[in-house]
Amino acid sequence: RDAYVNGRYVPHAQAAVHVEDRGFQFADGVYEVVCIRNGRLIDEDGHLDRLDRCLGELRIAWPCERRVMRLIMRRLIGRNGVRNGLIYLQVTRGTAARDFRFPAAARPTLVMTTRRAALAANARAGVRVITIPDIRWKRCDLKTVGLLAQVLGKQEAAERGAFEAWQVDEDGFVTEGTSSNAWILTADGALVTRPASHDILNGITRQSILRIAAAEGVRFEERPFDLDEAYAAREAFVSSATSFVTPVVRIDDRAVGDGTPGALGRRLLEAYVAHAEGAGAS
Ligand code: PLP
Repeated sequence: RDAYVNGRYVPHAQAAVHVEDRGFQFADGVYEVVCIRNGRLIDEDGHLDRLDRCLGELRIAWPCERRVMRLIMRRLIGRNGVRNGLIYLQVTRGTAARDFRFPAAARPTLVMTTRRAALAANARAGVRVITIPDIRWKRCDLKTVGLLAQVLGKQEAAERGAFEAWQVDEDGFVTEGTSSNAWILTADGALVTRPASHDILNGITRQSILRIAAAEGVRFEERPFDLDEAYAAREAFVSSATSFVTPVVRIDDRAVGDGTPGALGRRLLEAYVAHAEGAGAS
């Protein structure tokens, strides 16, 4: 298995960046995770558009042309023979002597790795989530490699037997999971997810699900929901490039609905898989 590091394909075990890389020193970088199904990249354009926006907001230059980025992704997937799994790509501001200010002349670092993975079985069985305070910074719309709050949240979830932690803002409203967007189907039948803002990462999967919901005539509302509404929900699920639409069957110590994956979640998962294996992939 190879990794891509700054223009070279190298064996994964030897792939490395410099100790003064600003990604390592300052978390001064952004990343993307794109799902691969049947050898094809799902929602690639959406992911590259988001990468472009994040790089622009942080004033990090593209490490190569977008066309070349697409080529490298395909080459690495081909070299590693990945049919189903994911590709991880990270761009940092580059390597320079440690100084908070932007370096005058540093070339951005680009690394990519792949991993094989089938769609997790829990996407069908359903998962538990816990809720924790959202302790992140105020630009959660940027997909930066500064993920310490998410690391702590996911570890706490794992230690408490849950798949994910839903982060809750100071007003008591759910923002999102540590690595996924959060959804509920309310008691009166509306699909609800928090609107895109600086408070959440606008998931590419989230955007696809909203399009699918609109096409299928599902009533949805983009608005914040609080814990009381979540506990009373008929259904709940999380979405991300790697978990697709994964039903949530327990939030803290409360069963969601009858404690099994709900009909809408299952329907959206099937529709998303069809999208992933069809027109959305390239
Ligand atoms: N929210 C956060 C904080 C994430 O880290 C992720 C993905 O890792 C998502 C949402 C889901 O985004 P996407 O659907 O683009 O994978």
